[in-house]
Amino acid sequence: MRIVFLGPPGAGKGTQAQFICQDRNIPQISTGDMLRSAIAEGTKLGLEAQGIMARGELVPDEVILGLVRERLSQPDCETGCLFDGFPRTVGQADGMNEANISVDVVFELQLSDELIVRRISGRRVHEASGRIYHIEFNPPKVDNLDDETWQPLIQRHDDSEAVVRSRLDVYREQTAPLIDYYKNSGVRYFEVDGNAAVEEIRSRIRERLIAVNA
Ligand code: ADP
Ligand code: ADP
Repeated sequence: MRIVFLGPPGAGKGTQAQFICQDRNIPQISTGDMLRSAIAEGTKLGLEAQGIMARGELVPDEVILGLVRERLSQPDCETGCLFDGFPRTVGQADGMNEANISVDVVFELQLSDELIVRRISGRRVHEASGRIYHIEFNPPKVDNLDDETWQPLIQRHDDSEAVVRSRLDVYREQTAPLIDYYKNSGVRYFEVDGNAAVEEIRSRIRERLIAVNA
C-alpha cells in the first residue's frame, strides 16, 4: 500500500508519518528530509536545492521525480511506503502515474494559517534522525536536546516567519490543486483535522488505514 500525506507546512505530516511508518513497518519517503541530507552531504543536488529551499520555493519536478524513482527502486519499498511532502505539484503526481507508481490512500492534514505559523516558528528538529519537537506543544525532555541522543536540536533555516509565508503561498498555488486531483482520481481520500492532539490524529489515521485494508 502506498500512502500520501498532503497538507501545508506545519500541519503535522512528518510527526504522524513517523508513527505510521513505525506501526506498519514501511519506509517514510520525505523528499524534504532527502533534500536536507543532500545539502548536508554537499552533493550536486544539495547545492542545487539549497537556495531554492531557503526561499521556500519548490525544487523542480524532474529533480524530485528522479530522487523518488531511485528511492522506490530499493527493496524496502516493495511492500509499500508513505510519501510525506510528495507529490507537491500536479506535475509530480502525473510523473508518478506515468511511471506506473500508484497511490492507494491520501490523508489531507488541514490547519489554519494562524496555527501553521505558530507550529512552524516553534518547531525544532534533531537533524541526524529527523525527530520533530515543538517548544510549546511537544517539548523535548531537556530544553533544546534530543530525547534519545541528547544532541542539540536545531531550527530549520526555512522556518522563519517570512519564509513560512511564502511557503504557504507556494502551497496554495502549486500543491493545493492536488486536493481536487486526488479527490477526482478514485483513490481513498481522507481529510484530517490537524488541530487535534497528536495522539488523537494518530489513532484516527490508524483506524482509517485498518478500515481500508479490510
Ligand atoms: P514541511 O515539512 O514544512 O512541509 P518539507 O521538509 O517537506 O517541509 O520541505 C522543505 C522544502 O523542501 C520545501 O519548501 C521545498 O523547497 C523542498 N521540497 C520538499 N519536498 C518537495 C517536493 N516534493 N517538491 C519540490 N520541493 C520539495
Ligand atoms: P509538517 O511535516 O507537516 O511540516 P511537522 O510534523 O513537522 O509538520 O509539525 C510541525 C510542528 O508542529 C512541529 O514542531 C511538531 O512538533 C508540531 N506538531 C505536530 N503535530 C501537532 C499537533 N497535533 N498538535 C500540536 N503540535 C503539533
